[in-house]
Amino acid sequence: MFIILMGPPGAGKGTQAEKLTKEFALIHVSTGDIFRNAVKEGTEMGKKAKEYMDKGELVPDEIVLGIVKERLSKPDCKAGVLLDGFPRTIEQAEALDEVLEDLKMKIDAVINIDVSEEELIARLTGRRVCRNCGATYHIKFNPPKVRNICDHCSGELYQRSDDTIDTVKERLNIYNKQTLPMVDYYERKGMYKSADGSREIDQVFADIAAYLQNKEDEI
Ligand code: ADP
Ligand code: AMP
Repeated sequence: MFIILMGPPGAGKGTQAEKLTKEFALIHVSTGDIFRNAVKEGTEMGKKAKEYMDKGELVPDEIVLGIVKERLSKPDCKAGVLLDGFPRTIEQAEALDEVLEDLKMKIDAVINIDVSEEELIARLTGRRVCRNCGATYHIKFNPPKVRNICDHCSGELYQRSDDTIDTVKERLNIYNKQTLPMVDYYERKGMYKSADGSREIDQVFADIAAYLQNKEDEI
């Protein structure tokens, strides 16, 4: 299966991706994670991307598109993919269609996780991420068993530099202007499903998993 997980920053894409990729044996491709790894490794691409990420802006397509194409071309993606954080504009959605045509792959479902802006701000400003394995927590809504320590790998938790209130507000503005119009693009293609992301993590997961199970049975 090839799934796109959409939604504003903080909707719970990474959290759900962790569970869905296990359940459906999919490869998790997150453009945000690819950029954060490149920043950590200090590559040229990482340095370029960081300039935009720190301001809450989108990294330019000339960087993003090549990275996505390279990642989706790797053999492990043949087993199935969950795309998280890409596409983020109609131009990226159109470019993805071309890449998938070249790779003889097709999108099976586009799932949008829907959450109010007030809740998104609370989720993003309290988010903590494992420096080692990338698992996501929240200081109130999904705390680790031991403060600042990852439940899975005992790695140290940190706060993303773009999860400050000012950058969060800019990222939400950019989402509303540039990413939201994509809903219409996929709705018209008849492959769009919205999930109410305001519920508990396990309830959101149960809803999306049931939908994907039906899709998988159809294939
Ligand atoms: P995204 O990948 O969409 O930016 P994350 O999965 O990183 O979002 O989630 C953002 C924050 O919200 C994290 O701190 C996460 O633990 C928390 N979170 C995710 N889903 C829920 C939920 N259903 N209810 C409450 N908090 C949640
Ligand atoms: P995320 O982890 O999805 O919240 O992404 C973090 C940051 O990475 C974003 O604010 C952007 O600066 C950059 N980024 C991630 N995915 C994309 C994309 N598809 N297009 C442009 N920039 C992106």
